[in-house]
Amino acid sequence: MEYVESLLDLIGNTPLVRLSDQVVGIPDDTPGAPLLLAKVEYLNPGGSVKDRIASRMIEAAEASGALQPGGTIVEPTSGNTGVGLAMVAQAKGYRCVFVCPDKVSEDKRNVLKAYGAEVVVCPTAVAPEHPDSYYNVSDRLASQPGAWKPDQYSNPHNPRSHYEETGPEIWRQTEGKITHFVCGMGTGGTISGVGRYLKEQNPDIKVIGADPSGSVYSGGTGRPYLVEGVGEDFWPDTYDRSIADRVIEVSDADSFAYTRRLAREQALLVGGSSGMAAFAAAQLARELAETPGGKDAVIVVLLPDSGRGYLTKVFNDDWLATYGFATGAPSAAQTVGEV
Ligand code: PMP
Repeated sequence: MEYVESLLDLIGNTPLVRLSDQVVGIPDDTPGAPLLLAKVEYLNPGGSVKDRIASRMIEAAEASGALQPGGTIVEPTSGNTGVGLAMVAQAKGYRCVFVCPDKVSEDKRNVLKAYGAEVVVCPTAVAPEHPDSYYNVSDRLASQPGAWKPDQYSNPHNPRSHYEETGPEIWRQTEGKITHFVCGMGTGGTISGVGRYLKEQNPDIKVIGADPSGSVYSGGTGRPYLVEGVGEDFWPDTYDRSIADRVIEVSDADSFAYTRRLAREQALLVGGSSGMAAFAAAQLARELAETPGGKDAVIVVLLPDSGRGYLTKVFNDDWLATYGFATGAPSAAQTVGEV
């Protein structure tokens, strides 16, 4: 019989899927076209790349004694890291408490609760020093006996999980032929861990970050952008500044338009940060197609999560229109005659 003992055994080993020349924007039969491969992280059991760091950070805390049997995991997160932590905590019998600001959608809170986690909602409209602020509440909960705070922005096991798992997977799957790695940066754990591993195997491999316009990684100050999960207004400890050879800045408009194209043209229903990274990777592929060695280039782009979490945003025409973005829907003229 073929089965696993636990869902946790299914974390990682996500597949590489080729992006077509059409979606990359390279004319068919271009002799110098590079190979662009997407690593599809939504196929992890919790639905994102963050399952990897959640399991690794918890295992390391168990080993060090920071997390004891029956302990409580406290983290200020409402996103993918929360889902990963909640899933691993549930499988291992830990309590999980997530602290999130009241602007976080009810859908996101409900996902965490569905895994058995508790969610503490804090008012956004209070000063950071107020006892009910997001920061104070999470610090207070994390200082209770038996509580442990993973802190994905400073935990070395975040980049380490990518150095020990994601990087070697990509190296193995491409049989060492990868020439370029592209990914977005939030905590910077993915790019730092994968990039370091790949460069140790072959120092000629280029690592390219994709970043929303306005974020510090591409020289901004943290000006607001709408794509979620990537870009920062500070430099996290988990980001290794020596890894990226180049950072490609991508606008929200391009990120969202490309996210929608991936769903319509490649059946890849992914989130906005995936669209952003794939947009940058496609730009790189078109540049390389113009260079003599372009046809030997093998680009891998990491797509962090699924589009299902963004159906009311990126995939909603009214939401896009509110911010003045194109919906990318075919015009009436184009749809005439379609079956
Ligand atoms: N995309 C999404 C949707 C994410 O949740 C994250 C994590 N914040 C990232 C990209 C960036 O990954 P990392 O934190 O490893 O830089």
